[in-house]
Amino acid sequence: MRIVFFGPPGAGKGTQAKLLAERHDLAHISTGRLLRKAIRAKTPTGLEAKAYIDGGQLVPGCLVRALAEEAVAEAYFDRFILDGYPRTVEQARWLMTFLEAYKAPLDAVVNLQVPAEALVVRLSGRRVNKATGENYHVEHNPPPADVDPALIVQRPDDRPAAIRRRLQVYRDETCPVLSYFQRFNLVRDVDSNAPISKVASRMEAMLASISQSWALA
Ligand code: AMP
Repeated sequence: MRIVFFGPPGAGKGTQAKLLAERHDLAHISTGRLLRKAIRAKTPTGLEAKAYIDGGQLVPGCLVRALAEEAVAEAYFDRFILDGYPRTVEQARWLMTFLEAYKAPLDAVVNLQVPAEALVVRLSGRRVNKATGENYHVEHNPPPADVDPALIVQRPDDRPAAIRRRLQVYRDETCPVLSYFQRFNLVRDVDSNAPISKVASRMEAMLASISQSWALA
């Protein structure tokens, strides 16, 4: 099972990918999380990526590609969810060629759909546990009482100017990725404008339908 989670920032890709990955024993490969980890570790990639991320811009493709390539190889080219990769048509083309070379084609590109006005509310209220990377929302999914409040922070790219920039980048550079994947008949839309548990049930149904189409093939 090889899946890409696609959608605008704030669509819930990270939250839903984590839940689905835990339930089905899949590797959850988030390029954003790998980049933030590299920043914390002050690796050359992290040092170069930081200004792009904080400003809400895309990190240069060669840096992210190396992280994605390594993580997919670590998952032995199977049983993974790619979250936040690809974000440009160039990245999508590379991914298809890379997976094809290992006879490991994608099974689906799950397109999480959320209206634009809901995205800003989700992003500006998002908080993250800086120790675990776990995401919360000040209203809809507050951190549990036993988590040290000092660990709960706002990501620099969840501040208003960076949010506006990220949504613009999504419209200009990432949206065309969907048309690219549509040509391969890989896209499955999931309405993600609902509470986390409701969207999670829709994800389960989607996964079941992919497995069913395998059985029929
Ligand atoms: P995310 O955690 O997926 O919201 O990603 C946070 C940030 O990491 C993005 O706004 C980009 O700056 C960077 N990033 C993550 N994935 C990619 C990618 N595939 N290509 C370029 N930049 C990326």
